[in-house]
Amino acid sequence: MSRLVRILRAVMIGAPGSGKGTISGRLERDFGVVHLSSGDLLRNNVLNRTEVGRQAEEFIDKGDLVPDELMVILVGNVLEELQGKGWLLDGFPRTVAQAEALDTRQDVDIDIVINLDVPFSTIVERIKQRWVHTPSGRIYHTEFNPPKTPGRDDFTGELLSQRADDRPEAVMERLGVYDRLTKPVIEYYRSQSKLVQFSGTESNVLWPHIKSHIDEFLKTNN
Ligand code: ATP
Ligand code: MG
Repeated sequence: MSRLVRILRAVMIGAPGSGKGTISGRLERDFGVVHLSSGDLLRNNVLNRTEVGRQAEEFIDKGDLVPDELMVILVGNVLEELQGKGWLLDGFPRTVAQAEALDTRQDVDIDIVINLDVPFSTIVERIKQRWVHTPSGRIYHTEFNPPKTPGRDDFTGELLSQRADDRPEAVMERLGVYDRLTKPVIEYYRSQSKLVQFSGTESNVLWPHIKSHIDEFLKTNN
């Protein structure tokens, strides 16, 4: 089969811990899109002690959103470099103001917005078992997606860690923020007829449905 498929531009929305990172990684692998995670981008800025990282850290650790102006510039700079490529935005936009800012860009035309609809009760349990490799953003789950060697990244062998904002208090704050500020973004894209929703509790179960939806989209829009 030809790999020269239409360039895909997609957005992934979902509550914290809904599996955005996991599903995005598979879309990157199978559809050749560049996976751009706003959370990974921010965490790498924090890790490398950049000015952006310094400004963002206090918001992230509490589970609050980083101000829109900063996010729009940060993600906008990366999109600038991705002209002509397919991409998948994971974690951006997550306010209506961010979605509107994205729509004003000439170089951006979004094909699909994937909404992962996972119950909050599942999320709270899942986040307790989440481990990350911060430099790459690779995510593991001690039960559903364990690393080959416990506590170590599969590709580099480096130590995995747990995110500061995965503490229960920060998770509750993030879920509240999601309800107040990100749910309206779902409606925003629904009204543009770009939204597709996938409901369930396990990424491994949702994944084949998402994959066939994208396959179908590419077939009919090629
Ligand atoms: P998960 O990674 O589990 O899906 P999440 O969506 O809460 O959970 P990230 O997307 O990694 O996590 O984001 C982590 C933190 O980074 C957020 O809580 C917020 O502080 C900040 N952040 C990420 N993206 C944005 C954004 N678009 N606007 C504002 N803040 C953001
Ligand atoms: Mg994420």
